Amino acid sequence: MPFYDQLQALAGEQIQKKSRQKTHSDVKKALSHAGKGTPDDLMALLSPAAEKELETMARVSRELTLKRFGKTISLYIPLYLSNECVNSCVYCGFNHHNKMQRAVLTPRQTEEEAKQIRAMGFGHILMVTGEHPQKAGLSYLRKALHQLTRHFPLVSMEVQPLDTSEYQTLAREGLNTVYIYQETYHRGHYRHYHPAGPKADFTYRLETPERLGKAGIHKAGLGVLLGLEDWRTDSFLTGMHLRYLQKHYWRTQYSVSFPRLRPFAGNYPPNHPVSDRQLIQLITAYRLFDENVELALSTRESARFRDHAFQLGITSMSAGSSTQPGGYSNQKDQLEQFEVADNRLPAQIVAMLVNKGYEAVWKNWDGILQGGGMR
Ligand code: SF4
Repeated sequence: MPFYDQLQALAGEQIQKKSRQKTHSDVKKALSHAGKGTPDDLMALLSPAAEKELETMARVSRELTLKRFGKTISLYIPLYLSNECVNSCVYCGFNHHNKMQRAVLTPRQTEEEAKQIRAMGFGHILMVTGEHPQKAGLSYLRKALHQLTRHFPLVSMEVQPLDTSEYQTLAREGLNTVYIYQETYHRGHYRHYHPAGPKADFTYRLETPERLGKAGIHKAGLGVLLGLEDWRTDSFLTGMHLRYLQKHYWRTQYSVSFPRLRPFAGNYPPNHPVSDRQLIQLITAYRLFDENVELALSTRESARFRDHAFQLGITSMSAGSSTQPGGYSNQKDQLEQFEVADNRLPAQIVAMLVNKGYEAVWKNWDGILQGGGMR
């Protein structure tokens, strides 16, 4: 059954009700399956009943992560190539209706940004754009990718959803990973957050990770925008999506991110705020559900939170991020998507990791083994 049909059968209200019915013994049972959880286990770990077991969840999640990944954290940095966007996502600073300076980096500007970023030590770069098929469509992305693979052993992408054949084209150019967040699995409310533009098409977005699997992209990143809807329900459905994809596209690797709504010009307050404690519950629930999945935490979160949370299940972190096109070589505050909460330099983040006994991994060996090394 396609995941879309499965989702239709998983009514959000029923998930909330079942989550509230989970008991302490359900949580204990889920802990006994740590690393290889069932859907029922994930629901228990995300439930209110699990709040009392948070210390245990954190300890077991940390142990599992150390066993599987060692004391390492992969570092990456976003490169915003464009803030042009035809969509109207109500929570985003790049919203088409938001009056702001717009920019699409030229090849020369992209080169400048790449050199600045390479000088910081990064081997993994994340290409980011708004959605603008005319100004930053496949042809633009392909050229930028071609340019960036000359500087970086691993290039990933967070842009508009594309067709399978387009992903195949980009995979041939060296694209390794695509992050595509569903924002919310609540189909009825999705339209409210995405009232116009191509992103209003819930189903096309939902099916994007499947197209990535078909296209042979190495890794697909999933997630929801925390704060839009009930986080327990949306996170449970993310887990079900992950399981579906792992079953049908088992050659693909997967990653889950935990973006929480951040302030931007025009502010959109969270409808369902997620506390720090709840975010820790969510991160550790995912690790207990799946011992192998990459869990990523970005600079949307504060230094204080990241310094604590990364030790409890996270395997990948961004560092030194700017969310504006050209932000590494030419700072202009009017172009940014959202405020970055952890403003530390990459070297400061590395020092923090080393201080806690961790090693910062600048290069992703998956990408190097796949692509045959630096181009
Ligand atoms: S979230 Fe993405 S698609 Fe939506 S307005 Fe922002 S940049 Fe555009």
